[in-house]
Amino acid sequence: MRSTVGERSAQSLSKADFFRSLDYIPLPILISESEPASVDRNHVFLNRAFHQQLGYTLDTMPGMASWFLMAYPDPMYRAAVMEEWAAIVADCIARGKDTAEMTALITCASGRQRWFIVTAQIHADLTRNWHVVTFRDVHDIKSMMDENGRLSRTDFLTQLLNRREGMALLEQAWRGWRKQSEPFALMLCDIDHFKHFNDQFGHACGDQVLVSVANCLYQEMGLGARVIRWGGEEFLLILPGQCLQDTEIEAERVRAAIAALELEWGGQVLRPTVSVGYAATDQTLWAGVDELLQQVDAALYQAKRAGRNRTAPAMPA
Ligand code: GH3
Ligand code: MG
Ligand code: MG
Repeated sequence: MRSTVGERSAQSLSKADFFRSLDYIPLPILISESEPASVDRNHVFLNRAFHQQLGYTLDTMPGMASWFLMAYPDPMYRAAVMEEWAAIVADCIARGKDTAEMTALITCASGRQRWFIVTAQIHADLTRNWHVVTFRDVHDIKSMMDENGRLSRTDFLTQLLNRREGMALLEQAWRGWRKQSEPFALMLCDIDHFKHFNDQFGHACGDQVLVSVANCLYQEMGLGARVIRWGGEEFLLILPGQCLQDTEIEAERVRAAIAALELEWGGQVLRPTVSVGYAATDQTLWAGVDELLQQVDAALYQAKRAGRNRTAPAMPA
C-alpha cells in the first residue's frame, strides 16, 4: 500500500476506526471489495455522507450490479454510463493513473437526480481488495454552467441558435465537407420590408413577427437542420447532407410556408414573407466559408431585387 502524503507514523488502524473516521468526511465514500474470481464487487462500507446525500444503504445496494441498476434506472442512460466508464478506465490504465473519474447523473434513493463527479480507485492496492469510490455533488454548479452555456448559444427573443453558435456550426460543417466530403447546404432568409411592421405597428409587433417566422422555420426544418438567428431579421439554415437540387425545393417550400403565415395584431392580419438565398457544397467549388456566405448573401439580394418573396441560388464569384 502506497503511503499517503500527510502520514506521520505507521500506526495500525482497526477497520472499525477506519470506517468511523470516514463518517466524519462530508464527501460520500463507498468502499467495494473485488473478489478475484468475480466480475461484480461487493460493497463493504458506505459512509454517513453517502447515506445522507444518496440515500442508499448497504442492504439496498449490496454490490456494484445493484448500484448501477438503482443509480441509473434508465436502461439507455445506464448503458451509456457503463460504456463511457469502461472507456475512461481503459484510458486511465493506459496512462498509468490510479483513479478514474466521470461526471454522471445519479438517481438518489429519494428518486431525485443529481450530477456527481464519481472518482474510483482502479487497482485494489489497498488492503483486502478494497476499492475506494468517492462522489462529489456538482449538481448546482453543473446546472448553472449548462444553463450559461445554453444562454450563450441562444438568441433571447426567438430561442433559436445565435450568430456566434451559428458561425461555429458553419465552420464545423465546412470542415466536415473538406475533410470527409460530407456535403451541406445553406439558406439565408430575410424578412421582406420588415421595417414596415415596426414602423406601422410598433417594435413589439416586429418582435412578434420575428418569433412567428422563427417558429415556422424551426417547424419546417428536419431534425438535423440548424436554424440560426443570423442578424436582426435574417435567419441562416444549415442543412447537413443536402445537395443543391434538394435545396432548391426546400428553399421554395420554406418561402411558401412563411408566405402562408397569418398573424393577428391589433385586429389586423399580418402576412410576412421572406426572400431566400441558398447554396450547397456539392456542385460548386467554393473557396471557403467566407466566399460561400458572401455569395449566399448576394443571392438573397438578388431575390430582393427580383421582387422579394422569392428564392435565388448563389453563384461563385
Ligand atoms: P428588406 O425587404 O430590404 O429586407 O427591408 P427590411 O425593412 O426588412 O430591412 P432593413 O434592413 O431595412 O430593416 C430591418 C429592420 O429590422 C431594422 C431594425 O430596426 C429591425 N430590427 C432588427 N432587430 C430587431 C428586433 O429584434 N426587433 C424588432 N422589432 N426589430 C428589429
Ligand atoms: Mg429584411
Ligand atoms: Mg436584413
